[in-house]
Amino acid sequence: MKAIVINEFGGPEVLHQREVATPKIGPGEVLIRLLAAGVNRYDVTTRRGEIPYAAVSFPHVLGVEGAGIVAEVGSDVTAFQIGDRVVPVLTISRGVCRHNPCYCQLGWDNICRHFDKLGLTKWGTYAEYVKASEHNLIHLPDSLSFTDAATSMVATATAWELTISRAQLRQGETALVNAVGGAVGSAAVQIARCAGARVIASAGSDNKLELARQLGADELINYKRQDLKTEVLNLTEGRGVDVVIETVGGQVLQQSIEALAHNGRLATAGSVGSSKVEIDIFRLLRKQAWITGTHFAPKATIRTALDLLAEKRLRPVLARSFPLVEAGEAQALLESREFFGNILLEIDP
Ligand SMILES: [Zn+2]
Repeated sequence: MKAIVINEFGGPEVLHQREVATPKIGPGEVLIRLLAAGVNRYDVTTRRGEIPYAAVSFPHVLGVEGAGIVAEVGSDVTAFQIGDRVVPVLTISRGVCRHNPCYCQLGWDNICRHFDKLGLTKWGTYAEYVKASEHNLIHLPDSLSFTDAATSMVATATAWELTISRAQLRQGETALVNAVGGAVGSAAVQIARCAGARVIASAGSDNKLELARQLGADELINYKRQDLKTEVLNLTEGRGVDVVIETVGGQVLQQSIEALAHNGRLATAGSVGSSKVEIDIFRLLRKQAWITGTHFAPKATIRTALDLLAEKRLRPVLARSFPLVEAGEAQALLESREFFGNILLEIDP
């Protein structure tokens, strides 16, 4: 099969299209013919060798997100048949493990201590084929295209997990969504809007803010030109926001914590800037504020995201698609942060 292979860590130039052996499946496993793969920040972090908790063995295929058709099923597979439209789940669990409590059994398969990850400890989706166990596959709704699923599944599920499951945003509340140009931010604006919240969008460019308005943002803050905390307080009569969806880090994270209202909840899915900030614990406790986060999303949330996309209640935001062979250019665009939404690789059928 054709695959984008890395043999060392480094910049986008270490990505090369190669002919490699198609994965062989065993009992309980499924081979998927991929038609599209999403390009995510996690792929870039893995490519740079910056994932601290797992070793990558070379040659390696990146990619945590993709969509395709079942090409082959192993013995004992009962839930999938050849020809089924599917997406693999990036946080790989066995459905049950020896750890107590077993989070995968409780529905948080994304934080099972017995972990594998697609595109990190297993070959990922920048390829014509990927294999997965049937526990880590989800049927794709008929009305959702392969490209729409691979464009936005991971970002939408992560944004839902942050906004609804972790921060518990409710109708009538105010949410600040930082980095609205990013994949998670552009999904979180739509989700917060669906939840009936007032949405304050922030970004470092006016162009991105205008696009966020088209997705439903009520108020816009450019944190390169304006002071984020001051503007949030001005827009909320000094009260602050009930929920922050954060993916920037550094100064933006610091000011967002300070801009929380009483009972405010900040939920993070990572940072492009510094991940370390100072917290005044007395201010936090006097406000009874929470800081939480998510590491991707459990399967149940991915299912919800796929259904909402299929029903057109949320829409995929495609920045640009590239052919598989241009995976390096696609990742370079992602690292530039000069785009709005999600980046996609299309794989020839
Ligand atoms: Zn477990």
